[in-house]
Amino acid sequence: MSTREELAGKRVTVAGLGVSGVPAAKVLHGLGALVTVVNDGADERAAAQAKELEAGGITVRLGDGDTLPDGTELIVTAPGWRPDKPLFAAAAAAGVEIWGDVELAWRLRETPSGRAPAPWLAVTGTNGKTTTVRMLAAILEAAGLRTAAVGNIGVSLLDAVLADEPYDVLAVELSSYQLHWAPSLRAHSAAVLNLAPDHLDWHGSMAAYAADKGRIYEGNEVACVYNAADPATEDLVREADVVEGCRAVGFTLGTPGPSQLGVVDGILVDRAFVENRREHAQELAEITDVEPPAPHNIANALAAAALARAYGVPASAVRDGLRAFRPDPHRIEKVADVDGVAYIDDSKATNTHAAEASLAAYDTIVWIAGGLAKGATFDDLVRGAAGRLRGAVLIGADRALIAEALARHAPDVPVVDLDRTDTGAMEAAVREAERLARPGDTVLLAPACASMDMFVNYNKRGESFAEAVRGLAAPDPAQRA
Ligand code: ADP
Repeated sequence: MSTREELAGKRVTVAGLGVSGVPAAKVLHGLGALVTVVNDGADERAAAQAKELEAGGITVRLGDGDTLPDGTELIVTAPGWRPDKPLFAAAAAAGVEIWGDVELAWRLRETPSGRAPAPWLAVTGTNGKTTTVRMLAAILEAAGLRTAAVGNIGVSLLDAVLADEPYDVLAVELSSYQLHWAPSLRAHSAAVLNLAPDHLDWHGSMAAYAADKGRIYEGNEVACVYNAADPATEDLVREADVVEGCRAVGFTLGTPGPSQLGVVDGILVDRAFVENRREHAQELAEITDVEPPAPHNIANALAAAALARAYGVPASAVRDGLRAFRPDPHRIEKVADVDGVAYIDDSKATNTHAAEASLAAYDTIVWIAGGLAKGATFDDLVRGAAGRLRGAVLIGADRALIAEALARHAPDVPVVDLDRTDTGAMEAAVREAERLARPGDTVLLAPACASMDMFVNYNKRGESFAEAVRGLAAPDPAQRA
């Protein structure tokens, strides 16, 4: 029986309203399931969503996400719901299966027409997922394939698998939460970009976090792509149970060995998907085809290229796709050059691992950092970057933690500690950074922290930075007169 047939008449509890819950409830209802949505909160937004769903004949229970509705035969949960919630304990006790949003999409991908569903090329990692998936989609498009970048941005997975006009292949971004709840997912090929401690409160431990990330390799058919500089990713490949003949393919910023992609004399090369890989390498693109050409971003490009090559895309499409790719806003985005100083917005660097990558990409930096630390420590980050810091300007709730790390590991670096959280704080930070910078330097917003203490989200933080920089670049009204 197909999943669609199985779901008809089944009592399904959808756990959590919101970006994944509402569409999941509608799709399940449309397939004839008897849907009850449970949600912890009961605020105005939830009430409005509930009203809409109830008008369509779906039962919604607000303010109690922990009691398992009677007769539940399946739970479809929002990815963010923690595995230790009482609802899931109750489900386990009752022998009820739990699917996340990805599992639901995976099971529904079979088309009623019987046409083979689009294979998934999947990407996870602590940082770089969105960028890599976007690059991959650009490469697949350059190869003339009908594809989409799906996941946190762009098209939702459910929409992609249910699209009227089917895709040839999907470039799929998966978070560790989503992987946790997707037991039967089997990607064509998959990449784990890197592995650094993150979301440990949710997963319970680093080992559990890594294990959830590693699920992306389960059942891969053609290639498990790992980061040769991050042995933990290779370990996950070794532990995975894959289809006979599936290969481990590494990417490296150095010269690639056989079965790796890497860089030789400024050229991205493939020694995995070529004939005679002991002696031969295929040129794919130049480093300058990748925007921005920062080391971590070259790594992202190599991972994307590896997945595309695993799918059989020609080398020329890798180059064309990378050339066509434009990074999303607030990811190492150049805002302006002002008086010989480059101003870069990497507001998306919301953790220390991401900030480490962007700090490694420039020689002399005035660093704007701070916000909500989420339990992070900054010693390693500051130690690694100390030699490249012209100065630092600190903002936000947890700036003292960064100030202390700077005092310990970079005592000679001038630090401006901005004790303000009002709307003008970013403007003040940019002015202080301008004062510290010299021609040839980079002023880099790479906060290493979440933004919510001062901004709605990292987008707003980046926009506020860009606006302040444009203020510097604008001609001084006094001089214009
Ligand atoms: P994600 O979707 O995993 O959050 P993004 O592609 O949105 O990743 O990039 C988020 C931030 O992570 C970037 O702004 C950059 O600072 C950093 N980053 C991107 N790629 C990498 C990488 N391969 N390694 C480390 N940090 C990275």
